[in-house]
Amino acid sequence: MDLEDLNEKIKRCTRCPLHLYRKNAVPGEGSLKLGIMIVGEAPGASEDEEGRPFVGVAGQLLTKTLAKLGISRDDVYITNVVKCRPPGNRTPTREEIEACLPYLLQQIVILKPKRIVALGLISGKTLLKLVGREVDKIGNVRGKCFRGQVAGVNLEICLTYHPAAVLRNPHLREVFENDLATFFGGGLPPLNK
Ligand code: SF4
Repeated sequence: MDLEDLNEKIKRCTRCPLHLYRKNAVPGEGSLKLGIMIVGEAPGASEDEEGRPFVGVAGQLLTKTLAKLGISRDDVYITNVVKCRPPGNRTPTREEIEACLPYLLQQIVILKPKRIVALGLISGKTLLKLVGREVDKIGNVRGKCFRGQVAGVNLEICLTYHPAAVLRNPHLREVFENDLATFFGGGLPPLNK
């Protein structure tokens, strides 16, 4: 299966109740030009409207922060753990995450990223669990990278805040920018094995 077939499958998916509320499923977009995938939590209202990831205010902050680092969002593959918007932007349930996870795993198999940048606790928790790590606070793992194998692909999972949290807490902006600069630049933090 290629990415296009997978996207079509996601758009028609009825595997969990979130399909009942969506206008559009949001499979993801971008490329693996830099070998990096960005994974957030779930689409919000703007994303649901457009069928594209990270296009609302939090997405604009992400896009601007990448641009500030000289990175075009087209050179990164951007997606979410859950591909349909939870009503009222609530946190996706464990069941919804489990139902949708096979799509993220298939994206990883197809795209073979060298690094995944997980934004926020839900994304970080879901991804780190795949490499056998439990995490309950983003503050405990943010700014760190962990090496592992996901769906047969060797990669690093690097963690930072979700841009929506940065918007709510402007004092996190500098840390967020520095984390992305580190994850996208040459100076990687030491791997946490
Ligand atoms: S959230 Fe995922 S599993 Fe649920 S309906 Fe949407 S694509 Fe399917």
